[in-house]
Amino acid sequence: MELGSGGNSHFGGRLTVKLQDSQLKPSRTLNDYFGWVLTLYLTPKAPDSKTNTPSFIGNPLNTMFLPATVRSHMPIAFALVLILTGLFAQWVGRASPGNSSSDLSGYVDLVRWGKQQHFDAHWNAPVGELTLSNRWSQWVFKADSKRADLDGGQLLLCFASRIKNGSLHISQLDVERSLRPLLSPPRLSPGKQIRTIASGAGHGGKDPGKQSGKRQEKDYTLRLALELEQQLLTAGFKVIQIRRSDEFVDLLDRPAIARRKGADVYVSLHYNSFSGPGSETAKGAETYCLTPAGASSTNDPDGHGGMPRMPANRFDSENLYLAWEIQRSIVSQTGVDDRGVRRARYLELTQMPIPAVLIEGGFMTHPDDAALIWSAESRTQLAEAIRDGLLAYKRTLERESP
Ligand SMILES: [Zn+2]
Repeated sequence: MELGSGGNSHFGGRLTVKLQDSQLKPSRTLNDYFGWVLTLYLTPKAPDSKTNTPSFIGNPLNTMFLPATVRSHMPIAFALVLILTGLFAQWVGRASPGNSSSDLSGYVDLVRWGKQQHFDAHWNAPVGELTLSNRWSQWVFKADSKRADLDGGQLLLCFASRIKNGSLHISQLDVERSLRPLLSPPRLSPGKQIRTIASGAGHGGKDPGKQSGKRQEKDYTLRLALELEQQLLTAGFKVIQIRRSDEFVDLLDRPAIARRKGADVYVSLHYNSFSGPGSETAKGAETYCLTPAGASSTNDPDGHGGMPRMPANRFDSENLYLAWEIQRSIVSQTGVDDRGVRRARYLELTQMPIPAVLIEGGFMTHPDDAALIWSAESRTQLAEAIRDGLLAYKRTLERESP
């Protein structure tokens, strides 16, 4: 159900507010409260010309939970108040990154920061590239870009870099939420282990997901989930499957299932599709983790910073490190293009009680990717790569304190 829409110059595009029918039904939160969930969507725009990043329908801009005690027309009235309040907060908050989290506001001189972290810095002025390197790493940052190439892997920063006083700067929020978790990965408390992986095949039942001809995403995510289960069991993990057949499992039930069954990590499995301008070139794998509070999501071209903190933001470091290991493993082992580690506020990720990522294993709409997606052999390769990313994450988080 569409509540209303209208042009809004602050957002550089047509803004559509949708109250989804399925989300008007009672939904359960992690704490087993009942109520309704409202998601605020922005209609898609043409791909970002700089990064060639398509934006997709259904990228949630914001989600809110309405308690069940609010009855009849009250949810809608209540929701509208929340939406307007939220929009105003975003409009105020987007002027500069980190406005909503004062400790992370502002930009940091990357050369100075790199030297503090024992990197040598080399600024290539003609191409606008800064390289930070040491014995172990080589990190390349481009001017006026979100793109960072870290040891050959791609990470999309929350905010584009800027040149200030002749020197490349990135946001303090990216230093803390994008670079720090890779430089000093999180560690589990002594004795804790990562044993159980929740595997969430995207879509299912009444929700087919993306389509390419007669092929539906929900079928291929399920095949991947079942293959991943075999690989994880062989590697010694326990596995929780969110679905084992063509059934619909509500996005908000998924975090609750993962928690109830004692999962340590959640992996959501999807395939992409894109039609429209830029579709000929849209190919490759992406791994998403939850957008940090105060930052804008990667596919949100207008940069709506200032979003509030979501429950799963307490795992920002784990989420990013998990996404990094899985994406790196996928790219090195399957030969698909690297579209990088990205951020999004997918409803499923916002409510996760454990570290979680969402993998887009390739584009069903691109012939190169599609050939891999339909092939059982390539699916096994992708499952092995995800398993190896999870093993790398486990090894690092379970390492002993120095
Ligand atoms: Zn999907």
